[in-house]
Amino acid sequence: MKIRVNEEKCQGHARCYALAPEVFDVDDYGQSSVKNDGWVPDALENKVRLAVENCPEYAIEVLEP
Ligand code: SF4
Repeated sequence: MKIRVNEEKCQGHARCYALAPEVFDVDDYGQSSVKNDGWVPDALENKVRLAVENCPEYAIEVLEP
């Protein structure tokens, strides 16, 4: 699975980071980015899907399911 955070949509709630800190990084403003060039380890996919569903800005895009 590969994802990206759309920087224009992300409003920095850091909700994704709270749900999957292994996958997301947040900067000092709460703006999110994805570690490992967007690639998600299989074991963390469920957590990431939860983060995708819980992003209030629909900013987390699934590039490869
Ligand atoms: S939950 Fe969505 S809007 Fe909030 S920091 Fe994560 S990607 Fe950005």
